[in-house]
Amino acid sequence: MTQVVDGKKLAEEVRAEVRERVAKLEDGPPCLSAVLVGENPASGIYVRNKRRACEATGIRSIQIDLPESTSEASLVKEVERLNADPSVHGILVQLPLPDGINPYRVTGAIRPEKDIDGLHPENVGKLVAGLPGLYPNTPLGILHILDRFEVPIEGRSAVVIGRSEIVGKPTAFLLLHRHATVTLCHSRTRDLPERVREADILVAAVGRAKMVQGSWIKPGSAVIDVGMNRVDGKLCGDVDFDGALGTAAVLTPVPGGVGLMTVAMLLRNTVRAFELQHGVTDA
Ligand code: NDP
Repeated sequence: MTQVVDGKKLAEEVRAEVRERVAKLEDGPPCLSAVLVGENPASGIYVRNKRRACEATGIRSIQIDLPESTSEASLVKEVERLNADPSVHGILVQLPLPDGINPYRVTGAIRPEKDIDGLHPENVGKLVAGLPGLYPNTPLGILHILDRFEVPIEGRSAVVIGRSEIVGKPTAFLLLHRHATVTLCHSRTRDLPERVREADILVAAVGRAKMVQGSWIKPGSAVIDVGMNRVDGKLCGDVDFDGALGTAAVLTPVPGGVGLMTVAMLLRNTVRAFELQHGVTDA
């Protein structure tokens, strides 16, 4: 029997919790500023969804649209302006950025307390060290799903496929801090199916449609599919969902799984950023 994760329901639970927290804030509401550079249609949709989710929980959101021709220096200047604006608590620069702009220079310019994507080197360092900080949203969403489904993590074997800064690496560290034995796989990994067959927890964050076959899945495991791939205009994950169904104990669908949790965790991080700027440092 496979429990299929209802990302919509889980995200609504988190939204309700955020709504309550926002309503209780004395100097609120928090404000998220989303910076969108250029005309990438997918990025435009992501930013719109994030802003809608903010509004549904009482978080204020503003959007700054900059032209495709924006230089790295002027984008950094915009980030610095938002850093200095006390009415802005969270800054999100939607990736990918146009060619010629180094994303590390831009995310590195965001004040760490306003870095709600958790990509500033200070927050990355805190994550690696296991110190409180702002961590990337998708990995937080993955851990939330595992906890919500009471998946045991300590001492278990976790396999993460994909080593990006935004998903794979931070997920591996979060699982490690929870005492999983983590294997981080990537394009040079040998015998990937064998690695996956050992996984009590599998996180697939590759970007290759249905790459993980049902026969690779360990019976009774938790399978978290982060991938978002378009095949014939339809969205699908990195895991062959139908193949995993019946073998995995917990399985996330695409769409309707991790993606919704990512946005929900962004709301939590925005409230957390607000708290950090108001002197609450220990949550
Ligand atoms: P990246 O493209 O940055 O990273 C992909 C990773 O997959 C790399 O580490 C790469 O290895 C690895 N990889 C590629 N091919 C293989 C292979 N054949 N076998 C094993 N590993 C392989 O992707 P992201 O982490 O940004 O995103 C991954 C997927 O998740 C995408 O589909 C993206 O759209 C989706 N996504 C979904 C989110 C959500 O909220 N649901 C949020 C963010 C991303 P190497 O490092 O060696 O190149």
